This record gives sequence, C-alpha cells and structure tokens, in this order.
Amino acid sequence: MQRWNGWGDDAVYMDLSPQALKLLCELIGEGRVCPDYPLEKFLENMPEARLSKHPLISFDAKLRLDHAHGQSMADWIGLRGGTLKRFPDGVSVPETVEEIHELLRFAAEQNAVVIPYGGGTSVVGHLEVPQTERPVLCLSLERYNRLISIDIRSRLAVFEAGIRGPRLEQQLNSKGFTLGHYPQSFEYSSLGGWVVTRSSGQQSKHYGRIEQLFAGGELLSPQGPLKLPAHPASAAGPDLRQLLLGSEGRMGVLTKAVVHIAAVPEKDVVYGVFFPSWEEASQAVHAIAGTDIPFSMIRLSNPTETMTHLTLAGHEGQVALLKRYLRLRGIHEKEACMCLIGFTGSRRITSASRRAAFSIVRHHKGISLGKPMGNAWIKNRFYTAYLRNTLWDLGYAVDTLETAVNWDQVTPTMAAIEKSIHEAL
Ligand SMILES: Cc1cc2nc3c(=O)[nH]c(=O)nc-3n(C[C@H](O)[C@H](O)[C@H](O)COP(=O)(O)OP(=O)(O)OC[C@H]3O[C@@H](n4cnc5c(N)ncnc54)[C@H](O)[C@@H]3O)c2cc1C
Repeated sequence: MQRWNGWGDDAVYMDLSPQALKLLCELIGEGRVCPDYPLEKFLENMPEARLSKHPLISFDAKLRLDHAHGQSMADWIGLRGGTLKRFPDGVSVPETVEEIHELLRFAAEQNAVVIPYGGGTSVVGHLEVPQTERPVLCLSLERYNRLISIDIRSRLAVFEAGIRGPRLEQQLNSKGFTLGHYPQSFEYSSLGGWVVTRSSGQQSKHYGRIEQLFAGGELLSPQGPLKLPAHPASAAGPDLRQLLLGSEGRMGVLTKAVVHIAAVPEKDVVYGVFFPSWEEASQAVHAIAGTDIPFSMIRLSNPTETMTHLTLAGHEGQVALLKRYLRLRGIHEKEACMCLIGFTGSRRITSASRRAAFSIVRHHKGISLGKPMGNAWIKNRFYTAYLRNTLWDLGYAVDTLETAVNWDQVTPTMAAIEKSIHEAL
C-alpha cells in the first residue's frame, strides 16, 4: 500500500548502514527525531466539504488527505508535523473522458477550483489547495490510464494521460517498444504530469525530454476541448503543444497524450568511472559533452557526494577494497569524483561510443571500474527515493535541489550551494 505520509510503497524499506549514519552525524550533526502527527487526527479534524453531492465525487476524509499534497519538503512537514490544513473538498477518480467532461461542467456550475492530479509526485507545491472561499475539487487521473492505440509504422502511441511509468513501459515493452522516460519518480508519476511539468528523465539525453516525446494530445477545459493532432512536422505558425507543456494544470485537464516511441534498445549500459579531482572530472565531462558521442547519461558527483554514495552503498568490505584500489591508481578518497556514463542503443553504436568517451576519460586521468557500479545504479535508480522515509525516521529531512547553469558557472554555483547549505546547517 502507498504510504500516506511518506514516499512509495510501505512494503519497501531502504536500510541505512551504521557507517552511513556515522557519516551523516559527522557531516551535519545528530538527527532530530520528531513524533509523527497521527492519521486519525487528520481524519477527525477534516473540515466540512463545501461541494454539493455528485455521484462521481467522494468526500472520504482519507481520500481528501491523500490528494491534498505532493512530495515537497513543505508537504512532508505539513503531513508529518500536522500543519497541513487545507484539503480538497471532494476527490473524483474518473475512468472515462465523458466523466471528466461532466466533472468540469459540475465544477463550473459550483464555481469550484479544479486541481488535476496525476501521480501526486510534484515537489514544487503544485497540488497545494489554495486559500479560497471557493470549493476545491481534485480530479485524479489515476484510473484514466490505458493504452489507446499504437502506430508502429510512425512510432507513435496514444495513452490516457493518467497512466504511470511502470504500466506505460510494461504496455510498450510487451510490443518491443519503449518511451524511455525515466524521472526518478517513475514509479508513481504519470504521463500527463510529465507533459504539464516539462519533466526530464534519467536518459533524456538519448530519448529526448518530454517536450521532444510529446507529439500531440487532447485537453479538456471548462471552455471546451483542445485537440492537437500529432503532425510529423509543421511550419504553420507557433507550435501549440507549447501551450500544454509546462502548463501545470492551468489550461485544463490533459486527457490524452500522443508520444514518440522507440524500439527497446539492444544495449543499455552504465559504466562507473573515477577521477582524481573535481577539476579533471568536470573538464572530462565538458569535453565529452562537446563531442558528438551519443551517450545517454552522465552523472558526475563531487567528492562529498562521491563519499556519501560509497558509504550509503553499505558494503563496507567492498568499499574499503575500492578505496585501496583507487589509492593504488593515484586517486585519493578525499578528492575522488565518481561519474556514471550511460550508453543506449545498438551493440555497435554503444561500443564505439564507449571507446570514444573513455579515451577522453583517460586523458583526464580517469579510470573505469566497468559495469558493476552502473548495474547497481540501474537496479536502485528509483529506490533511493525511499531513503527519504528512513532518514526522516532517524531525524533527517531530505530535499532535492535542481538547477541548470552554463558551463562557466558550474563550479562557482556548486561551491556557492555547498557553502550556503553548510552555513545553514
Ligand atoms: C522522488 C522524486 C523524484 C523526482 N524525480 C524527477 C525527475 O527525475 N525528473 C523530473 O522532471 N521530475 C522529477 N520529480 C518531480 C515530479 O515527479 C514531476 O514533476 C512529475 O512530472 C509530476 O508528475 P505527476 O503525475 O506526479 O503530477 P502531479 O504531481 O500529480 O501534478 C503536478 C502538476 O501537474 C498537473 N497535472 C497532473 N496531471 C495532469 C493532467 N493530466 N492534466 C493537467 N494537469 C495535470 C497538476 O495539477 C499539478 O499542477 C520527482 C519527484 C519526486 C518526489
């Protein structure tokens, strides 16, 4: 079952090794455990619903609580600390486009605010119920989640927008295709949510960001429908898909999305590489990015993050062995920077790309540790989010910072962010 006040399935728990806890204590001090606000209290104190009854709308208190938040730090504090005070007045989980249409009609009649809900993984307050005198209806697309059609010749698939990552990939994989869109929230986030938040995935360098994958779709708004056919190309005026991309629920409900799909790749590999310093590492990444090598992903960690990753990995013996090996190769633990480099595609292309990228890695004194580290990353790539639960229980709050800067600002930005976090803690 999905956790009501944390991330993901409550059957999944990520352990934290004693070494990892020790490192955390050294880096940021002891955790401060706060008691959780009980579920029963939320349910008991649920405010009276301000919407009239409708057969498609539920006023169930737990459903209202579950749809009152996303997954931001503020959302977590509200849930765990009991400060979450605003809830949708009703929640609807339609299964057909006619039902969505009817709900929008009813909401207009009631002068209600409508909040479309995909997977509830927003980390920027999208799903926060506004302070308003008007009733608020949450329209969840979690049951509007089928594959409608697939055009293999044009490599296009049409989905109901509430479909979530695993189900979407399962449907495509069974036919030999993939969308290849893997945000870390993949397990719960929805196709509609990806489109309207301009989501980016872990292999978007290869498959394209959602704005490149989104070929067209249908939106229902209180003013009527908007249909954007999936033309292969058009030079006729502005691209109206841009109205929907990043619209964050403001334009209406995205009901259907047409997406570009690709054949399941022959190879999908990730290699672990270590560099002796941030300077060499960032120069190597810059150099690889400046070539035409078709890598699918590069994730570079600075020394602090590298040490944290290694400690979190938990296998003390193996990590000690790795550190000894790196030292022998002239890479010192305190300066080491870990980099994961991925290649996706045919055997021929991925091998040639790896050879070309690794010659740059070697030029910058980097060494490859082969695929085991990459395989471990692939295996856990959606599960590290579960650490948030474990850490919260130990008295540590976890948040994600994300930004994009031009190359000359990379190192100064990193230094400034680290400095301000250290000072704040
Ligand atoms: C652990 C974690 C990891 C994450 N990793 C990534 C990542 O790697 N890359 C990334 O880009 N983001 C990431 N995110 C952020 C989040 O997952 C994305 O923004 C995602 O696209 C939201 O999709 P959702 O279906 O959960 O949308 P929701 O959170 O349900 O909604 C987000 C917004 O979209 C609107 N909306 C949702 N569906 C529709 C629809 N069908 N029609 C109209 N409006 C709609 C909502 O009203 C809201 O404004 C992460 C979040 C978490 C918690």
